[in-house]
Amino acid sequence: METIFTKILKGEIPSVKLHEDELCFAILDINPVNKGHLLLITNEPYPDLQSCPDEVLAHLIRLAKLADAKLREHLHCDATNLVVNNGRESGQEVPHFHLHVIPRWKGDHKNIQPSKETYTDGQMAEYGKQLEF
Ligand code: AMP
Repeated sequence: METIFTKILKGEIPSVKLHEDELCFAILDINPVNKGHLLLITNEPYPDLQSCPDEVLAHLIRLAKLADAKLREHLHCDATNLVVNNGRESGQEVPHFHLHVIPRWKGDHKNIQPSKETYTDGQMAEYGKQLEF
C-alpha cells in the first residue's frame, strides 16, 4: 500500500528527515502544533496500532525518548506530547502508523487536550470490570 509517508520514505515527496533506520524514520511535521513537532513513522505502512508488530512499537518508543531529549536540549521545550491518532475517528489523517512528538512550552496556549466526561454512580466500576486485561 502506498501512502504519503511511503512516498516521503522513497524520496518522491520532499521532507526534512531527522532519522532513518531499518524499522522507521522521523521527519518534521509540515503543519506543526509547535515548531519542531516531529513524526516517527514505520517504514512498513502498517495502517494502525493493532497491525504494527511489537518490536517496531518498542523501537518507536525508544526513538521517542531520544527525540524528546533532542527537543528539550536544542529547543529548550518544557515538555512534550506523544500522540498517536489510531483510526480515522480519532483524527488519524494518514493511515500509516506514526507517533507525533510535539514540543511544549509553558504558556504556549496550544489546547490539544480533549474535553472530558464524568461517570455516573457505579459506572466507573462497570467499565473497570469490562476493560480489565
Ligand atoms: P495524523 O492526523 O495523526 O494522521 O497526522 C498526520 C500528520 O502528517 C499531520 O500532522 C500532517 O501535518 C502531517 N503531514 C502530512 N503531509 C505531510 C508531509 N508531506 N510532510 C510532513 N508532514 C506531513
